Amino acid sequence: MARDDVNDIENIDRSVGGTVFERFFTGKREAEVVAPDTYFMTADYVNLVAFETSEGLLLVDCGTKEAGPKVHEEIRKLSQAPLHTVVYTHGHLDHAFGLQAWLDAGERPRVIAHENVAHRFRTYMKTGPMNSNINKVQFGIQAGLAWPDREEDFVWPDTVYRDSLSVVIGGERFELHHAKGETDDATWVWAPERKIVATGDLWVGMLPNCGNPQKVQRWPEEWADALEAVGSVGAELLLPGHGRPIEGADAIRKCCFDTTEALRAIVQQTLAGLNAGMIHEEILATIEIPEHLRGNAYLDPLYDRPEFIARNLIRKYGGWWNGHSAHVLPARMAEQAVEIARLAGGVAPLVARARELAGSDLALACHLAEWAALADPKDRDAQQCVIEVFKQRGDGEISLMGRGIFSHAVRRAEAALEEMGG
Ligand SMILES: [Zn+2]
Repeated sequence: MARDDVNDIENIDRSVGGTVFERFFTGKREAEVVAPDTYFMTADYVNLVAFETSEGLLLVDCGTKEAGPKVHEEIRKLSQAPLHTVVYTHGHLDHAFGLQAWLDAGERPRVIAHENVAHRFRTYMKTGPMNSNINKVQFGIQAGLAWPDREEDFVWPDTVYRDSLSVVIGGERFELHHAKGETDDATWVWAPERKIVATGDLWVGMLPNCGNPQKVQRWPEEWADALEAVGSVGAELLLPGHGRPIEGADAIRKCCFDTTEALRAIVQQTLAGLNAGMIHEEILATIEIPEHLRGNAYLDPLYDRPEFIARNLIRKYGGWWNGHSAHVLPARMAEQAVEIARLAGGVAPLVARARELAGSDLALACHLAEWAALADPKDRDAQQCVIEVFKQRGDGEISLMGRGIFSHAVRRAEAALEEMGG
């Protein structure tokens, strides 16, 4: 593939913008030949890979439901080989829902996935509206995607495996390896004869998304192990689930091993804190990516933050009680806010102080603004203050997860104002 097409990992341009979308989800929307008989494309914001063999295509992921037809069209511009096998790298909406276009064209592929993909689909059938709401907040969007939650919304895998699976297509061997990372149903595909690895979301070119504040358990330790394994196979080309490919064995090893090291450091810091009997907020204050790794743009916390990853580990190893005694059976936040406002001499002093603090301590300013609006939701200036302070917070926040929640606060306050009229 053309050299300038590859993310030059030493020189990622950090000035192009702080968001995930600006820096990473910028791949070509057309299928391209990235190695002999190997096609790669970005469909909207997710990547997929097609390996051509003498017996047909092995497709690694198929994009979203909406992007499916475009993926089919693009791959068909480069190859007419029948679709032999599809592998879902995991069961997320952007990776495993674009197959219908192929089926409509008469293809009848074998569909392989880790056994937990089917379990995920069944969970989606129970939690469609919840997932739709979470994504609205996470991505800061007004209208949520209708989440697939009926049996017929899924193209179910017909072949599942547990630890690893070797498949031979057209005489060529492909190794499927299970891993846990962002999800518990991940597969990465190693094509030894081509020296190409397709990682799905185990590599996304930024600090791994394994701390998500709103979603189910993530797996930082297992993710570290998986990247160590990916970095050790001797791949010359890494084709990721999002972002640009990495070319060259040394670069691949460095990216994978650096990320492994960063994740293990967060795990070690969190466990040390838990074992020392520290309460959650004290542990979070100790979490950091080791200094010698921080220069790597591919560890920037664009999606998730180190402290969110630590929280995920705390949830995995411990309970939800945060260590503050009153919080085990707390008064409601609105009740606390009314008392705080009474002590402050009303909602107005809280609002004034929030605005004052916004210039020096935005985290604290957010608390004061939130207390003010909770103490009196009908106070227009309090809602206005929430909008100002959380907008400022979101604009300065690097992680998409943080931004999404801050912009949700803005939208809620805007809705409250609108409801009051005028
Ligand atoms: Zn993805």
